[in-house]
Parts: sequence; structure tokens; C-alpha cells
Amino acid sequence: MSEITLGILGGGQLGSMLSVAAKKLNIKTVIYSDDQKAPAQNFCNNFIYAKYNDPNIIYEFAKKVDFITFEFENIPYETLNKLNKLKPVSPKPSVNRLIQHRLAEKDFINKLNLRTTRYVNIENKKDLEPLVDFLPGILKTTTMGYDGKGQYLIQNMKQISSLDIDFSKEYILEKLVKLKKEISVIITRFGNNKYEIYEPIENTHEDQILRYSKIPAKINEILFNQSKDWAIQIAEELKYIGTLCVEFFIDRNDNLYVNEIAPRVHNSGHLTINAYNISQFENHVRAVCALKQTPLKKISNAEMMNLIGDQITPYRQKNFSLNDNQFFFDYLKNEIKEKRKMGHLTTLK
Ligand code: ADP
Ligand code: MG
Repeated sequence: MSEITLGILGGGQLGSMLSVAAKKLNIKTVIYSDDQKAPAQNFCNNFIYAKYNDPNIIYEFAKKVDFITFEFENIPYETLNKLNKLKPVSPKPSVNRLIQHRLAEKDFINKLNLRTTRYVNIENKKDLEPLVDFLPGILKTTTMGYDGKGQYLIQNMKQISSLDIDFSKEYILEKLVKLKKEISVIITRFGNNKYEIYEPIENTHEDQILRYSKIPAKINEILFNQSKDWAIQIAEELKYIGTLCVEFFIDRNDNLYVNEIAPRVHNSGHLTINAYNISQFENHVRAVCALKQTPLKKISNAEMMNLIGDQITPYRQKNFSLNDNQFFFDYLKNEIKEKRKMGHLTTLK
């Protein structure tokens, strides 16, 4: 068989883990990142450091690879579109453009008749004033947000005047859901009604950043099936190719809401590396490189803990001993920063 090379846009931990999964399948990887220190350069075969809109680099990158994908959603649409004319990009650039924008994303989910929290478009401070009854809510930038960045919790009208909100950006205001639980469902779609789906994962956030993920999620059978069913509907409607994650809220009355869609591999799915025969990363590589679909099998229940900022330090010290059922991942980021995801620890249960 001729050798396959996969191009990946983005060089963070997701790009690293995709490269590791590709290597296992004898697929070479080229990472294209605008961060000179991108950690994925430690794991790929070839690393390109350049701005994402450099036309010469876009062309050079496409020449080197057979298939193209991306590890985070904030890649310029124009870049993905140009690349897609040269080599197949999966998921499609149009999917990314839709999901990049919180308002378009939520409109799309509602058109499928799937529940989201209530939301309104906010373009300036005046738009907030008539919304007293709507509060408490969370104001979120429509684009470029992650790990709770660009979000403001607003309890009451009084708070609005005291918050220093940058209205050069566009926002949506979401009604605050009284959360009982958060779960996510990861699915890899290979083609029409051809997919592999992982069981729902239960997630715990601290300061709006994911801290723990575990399977099985402690949810009833209705929610177990409903969340998987909704994820399948979303993937089919998007004609998605590759791995996708749907983040859900569950409220105190056991109602399910779609929070957001990630058109990529997802932090909550890191436990699939050790808990399944095929990880979310390997399945993504298989789908975007048009390889064979292989039935998914769960090996073990598992719990993943994100190591954020200096939580990584004790695990890096050589005298820290792991049990046979524990797996430590160091993303090899240059610098420890507060709120930066530095690594994770998965424990099989
Ligand atoms: P990000 O793109 O940063 O992941 P999310 O919209 O997923 O943004 O928000 C991050 C976290 O903040 C969620 O996982 C949840 O814990 C909390 N959160 C966000 N929106 C709401 C909401 N409408 N109601 C309750 N909690 C929310
Ligand atoms: Mg999220």
C-alpha cells in the first residue's frame, strides 16, 4: 500500500495526540501551526510554522499531504476553503464555519428540533437592557471562545453597568441552566449512516475549564439513549466526516440540552485512548484518511483528570509512581501557565 500523509492544522495537544494515533496506523503527519513553540512538533513527522493565511505556505502544505484536517475550530474559513480545492479537507470547511459562530451553531441545533438553552443576539449594551426577565445568564463572544474565555456571568441588571464588556465584539446571551450534570458524546462518522459512537462521558468543570471526565456517566437510560441519538442526528445532518463531540447540559428535571458542538476531537474523549480498542484520535484519522471502519469495543471504565497549570509538576517528577491502571500524558508545553492544560492522567477502573 502506498504511504499516506495527513496534514493537520493546529499544533496543540490535540494535534499531538492525532499524530501519535496516525503513527500507529503507519500514516505520516505534517503539522501546520502559527505557534513557533507548538507542542505537536514533538510528535509529528514534519512541522511548518507560519501564519494560517500565508498563500504560499497553504500551497506548500497541500503539496506535502494527501488528506487534511484540523485540531481546533478557529482556523480561518478562507484557509480551509483554499486547501479544500487542493486536497480533501475533513470535516468540510462549511461545517467549521457554522460551528465557529455560537449564534449560527445554536440556530442550526434548534432547526433540528433539539433543545438548547434560550439565547439572544447582543450587539451593544442597549440590547441587554430589556432583558431583566432573562437573567441570570451568561454573555459569550460569538466567535473565538474556549475554556470559558470571553464569557461573563450576569446575575442581575445592576451587574451589567459594572462589567467591563468589550462591545467591539459580538455576543450572545444565554439563559443560565441550573445544571445537574454535564455530559458529552463523541462520534466518528465515516459516511451515510456509518459511524462509531462512544458511550456518554460525564464531565466536571472548575472555573469553566474541564477538570474530570469519566465513563460510565451516572445518568438514566433515557438520557443515555437520547444524548447518543441527538449526536447521531447532528453528525448526519452535517454530513460530517471525522470525530465530533456534542457537549450537553442536564438540568435538575433531567432535561437534556445541547450546549455546543466541537467539530474535532475533544478533551473529554482523552480517556478513549486507554478505555477503548480504538481512540477518538485513531478513529478521526481513519475517517479523514478514508480507511476501514472497525467496530468499537470498550475495554474498561475510566476516569480522566486534566492537569492544569502547575498541577502537572508532581507528575513530572520521576519519583512519582503510577499504578498499572494509570496513564500519564505530558503535552510537553514550553511553559507552565495558570489555566493552561499541561497534561492529563487517565485511571482505568
Ligand atoms: P467553551 O467554548 O469555553 O467550552 P461553553 O459554552 O462550553 O464554552 O462553556 C464552558 C462551561 O461553562 C460549560 O461547560 C458550563 O460548565 C458553563 N456554562 C456555559 N454556558 C452555560 C449555561 N448557559 N448555563 C449553565 N452553565 C453554563
Ligand atoms: Mg465547551
